[in-house]
Amino acid sequence: MIIRNVRILGGEPVDLRIEDGLVAETGPGLSGDDGFDGGFDGRGAIVLPGLVDLHTHLREPGREDAETVQTGTQSAARGGYTAVHAMANTSPVADTAGVVEQVWRLGREFGHCDVQPVGAVTVGLEGRQLAELGAMADSAARVRVFSDDGKCVDDAVLMRRALEYVKAFDGVVAQHAQEPRLTGGAQMNEGVVSGRLGLTGWPAVAEEAIIARDCLLAAHVGSRLHVCHVSTAGSVEILRWAKSKGWDVTAEVTPHHLLLTDDLVEDSPVGAYNPIYKVNPPLRTRADVEALRAALADGTIDVVATDHAPHPVEDKETEWSAAAMGMVGLETALSVVQEAMVDTGLLDWAGVAERMSYAPARIGRLPGHGRPVEAGAVANLTLYDPSVRTAVDPSAFASKSRNTPYEGMTLPGRVVATFLRGRPTVLEGKLV
Ligand SMILES: [Zn+2]
Repeated sequence: MIIRNVRILGGEPVDLRIEDGLVAETGPGLSGDDGFDGGFDGRGAIVLPGLVDLHTHLREPGREDAETVQTGTQSAARGGYTAVHAMANTSPVADTAGVVEQVWRLGREFGHCDVQPVGAVTVGLEGRQLAELGAMADSAARVRVFSDDGKCVDDAVLMRRALEYVKAFDGVVAQHAQEPRLTGGAQMNEGVVSGRLGLTGWPAVAEEAIIARDCLLAAHVGSRLHVCHVSTAGSVEILRWAKSKGWDVTAEVTPHHLLLTDDLVEDSPVGAYNPIYKVNPPLRTRADVEALRAALADGTIDVVATDHAPHPVEDKETEWSAAAMGMVGLETALSVVQEAMVDTGLLDWAGVAERMSYAPARIGRLPGHGRPVEAGAVANLTLYDPSVRTAVDPSAFASKSRNTPYEGMTLPGRVVATFLRGRPTVLEGKLV
């Protein structure tokens, strides 16, 4: 088929010929079958390489009331993603070859994008004993990213062993950096707002201390470290220092930490103490947001990852202290990145491709994803129209959950189409 009138990374309009799941040819005015079934008019949309998420909670097995592999990957496809890394904090935990293969098979059977399971670092995410990392790496799921996300691997000895172990198969440990003893009962960012509201604070130092320790450990054993959802200006400083040493440390930031601040907990269009803003790590201050944007722009932070965390209504629409932490993010990520990074002049579309496709695929060692849109590449593509602005309507989400902080907010851009190995998963914004 031919995809007509699209702009690769925002360049001049061209056509793309797709054959056998590959981009066969790019150029202006390609001839070929452009009939109703065989062609698609992109009407000037930007083409990006299919987005890759390093940090998605698909909730299956165990919490199919919140999300399933099917609905989560439908949500991903609508957001322009062609691959997601499925976090390990399911029930049962993805800490054995059996469970990661189960998730991988569910992805092959029901996935609207590729599903790459993440393996747990420790048995049951309990932080006591290393999980069978080698067996997960050798399994059909080919696990390369290991994370206890949701919990921090806070034991320095275990973290060191995990970093040493994954070197054998070129794996990476993705750390949820949260010193647990500094965040007991924490409800939101520790600062002036938490003080006024009387909520227990989650101090920046609890994140920064773990990141500093883990950078030193990774350097000491010569292994790869990835830092999940960086949220503070101090963390950025530590990462900048670690990278200046040449250490193999990468980091991600979520869309919500690039846009939202902790004062929304006190005063927002949906009132005070609204748990829609409860997330871990918490929303931080305007100064943190500015530092995170600058770090993503200059490459200190490598990746935008959604931390898509679906929760059913009963877990979220309750009093602040009892509410679950997390936000859905797959279907709004690109729009939020446009708002925070592109429309502010901090990133161009090539920069977006690097941080939302090339870099996450590289860190996850994911073959077939994160390649430039050119002849010979696998046709994993996202068509995006940045010129429209629409109010976010959660009822239109493909996700089973609706816990978005952007409801009613007007955000730029719209995913027009997504192609997975040349096959459309989304056309005109609708699931195929
Ligand atoms: Zn986390």
